[in-house]
Amino acid sequence: MRSMKQMQTDVLIVGGGLSGLYTALQIDESRKITILVKEKLTESNSFLAQGGIAGVMNINDASLTKHIEDTIIAGVDLYDKSAIQALVYQAKENIEELIKLGVPFDVDSTGNILLTKEAGHSTRRILHAGGDATGQKIMETLIALVKNKPNITILENTMFYALIHEDNTCYGVKALDEKGEALAVFANHTILATGGIGAVYQDSTNSHIATGDGIAGAYRAGVEIVHMEFVQFHPTVFYDVKNEFRGQKFLISEALRGEGAILRNIEGNRFMAKYDERLELAPRDVVSLSIYKEMYDTWSDYVYLDARHLGKEFLKDRFPTIYQKCLNFGYHMESDLIPIAPQEHYGIGGIKIDLNGKTSMANLYANGECSNSGVHGANRLASNSLLECLVFGKRIANVINQSKPQRPLYWDVKEARIYKPYNYHHIRQDIRNAMQQFAFIVRKKEGLEIALKIISNHYQALLKYPVLSVDYYRALNIATVAKLIVQAALARKESIGCHYRID
Ligand SMILES: Cc1cc2nc3c(=O)[nH]c(=O)nc-3n(C[C@H](O)[C@H](O)[C@H](O)COP(=O)(O)OP(=O)(O)OC[C@H]3O[C@@H](n4cnc5c(N)ncnc54)[C@H](O)[C@@H]3O)c2cc1C
Repeated sequence: MRSMKQMQTDVLIVGGGLSGLYTALQIDESRKITILVKEKLTESNSFLAQGGIAGVMNINDASLTKHIEDTIIAGVDLYDKSAIQALVYQAKENIEELIKLGVPFDVDSTGNILLTKEAGHSTRRILHAGGDATGQKIMETLIALVKNKPNITILENTMFYALIHEDNTCYGVKALDEKGEALAVFANHTILATGGIGAVYQDSTNSHIATGDGIAGAYRAGVEIVHMEFVQFHPTVFYDVKNEFRGQKFLISEALRGEGAILRNIEGNRFMAKYDERLELAPRDVVSLSIYKEMYDTWSDYVYLDARHLGKEFLKDRFPTIYQKCLNFGYHMESDLIPIAPQEHYGIGGIKIDLNGKTSMANLYANGECSNSGVHGANRLASNSLLECLVFGKRIANVINQSKPQRPLYWDVKEARIYKPYNYHHIRQDIRNAMQQFAFIVRKKEGLEIALKIISNHYQALLKYPVLSVDYYRALNIATVAKLIVQAALARKESIGCHYRID
């Protein structure tokens, strides 16, 4: 047993994506804040966000009601109405705060904010920046701001691996610092903002950092986790016909369909009318499942996105990142059909939070993709997730700002486990293959049971032989999150939202 290095802070935020950084910027400057980030601040799903951020800016009762209705329709039955109301009603003030902080949203020649539409939205209410580089523009602005705040300390390359807790109260976290040494960070308020779960699947649009660490660490500490079966598969992810490389895949934003792009099967036929009257603008779960069925019927691994009629100038101007990326792969969007297929994109389930971001453990909050506030129900409405990071971040900050400042408790924490240079690559690979095969868009009992067996074997073995290393925790977190998804998918026997059972 060795004593760990330690530090104290007033507020500890684990994660430097939009949910972490925006929350930090809303907390009073009198509070000392420490932000832990697994790799660099520029490596996050927030940085990759393309389409935009939903929010009614021209407030009237009808427009707010419409946003609420669209969110509920996409989320089917499992939504939390009061959480959705908070999300929609507080969109404007938080987006205006982003603008005040300097985020350069796209505007027309007279300075009016440009709004786009995405699947499931009945009207244009999505703000974007840099055309299709919304996440990058937001994050560049916020990163520059947090780096200049004297009350904020950022520790990059520092990986959270466990909560420090007693009697269902959180006192901070244990982390591995950039040298791989164990560090205990004590805090009055701890916020998990660790992002998504994409790296639990073989293929995903997510950054490789998305191994569900916050969810896994919270689960191991007994914090309530909900709705893990709901994994959203984005319908239009670039399918690399020539190369078929696996891992992080390139997303082709839904905003393209919002601007008029359509879907065709490999025979060149438009097919969405067979499945839904909303055609290409049906909610994501419907479009993904329709593509999946069409691929099955046409013996193909992909279908096509057809944006040719939108014209070169418009495509280059409105979607510069996507246009260039397609070009790099040899496709001219104005003349070529773009091969696409659905892939993992967003983890809806996560750490259960209330309207103020509080988890089931005292002094522990969660925000962003690692949390479940109830706004997404059984299927997230496009572009509501960046908004969720803002609205709940602000609500968490309000609670912390109103709390009485005090010195954090701390004590000598000892860590028994030792470092070994083991490589758990094969375990992660095994789990990812099982998830891709058996816990994908269409699920059935037999397949889920096979996956659970594979995952549980690895999970138990990892728990039995603990090691204090980043590689070990990446594998353990993937195994933990995969287990939670598959168990929840087995337990929910009916099809709802993005959880589709064929048995
Ligand atoms: C390609 C793509 C496009 C998208 N487009 C849109 C869009 O247009 N509109 C929209 O609303 N949503 C979009 N989304 C979803 C949205 O980007 C995410 O849901 C949102 O950005 C999540 O923010 P976050 O702060 O919760 O997580 P992230 O931005 O992923 O940040 C997570 C942070 O946690 C840190 N972290 C993780 N584990 C640890 C650990 N163990 N220790 C320390 N730090 C850790 C990471 O280093 C990172 O800093 C998109 C997602 C992707 C992948």
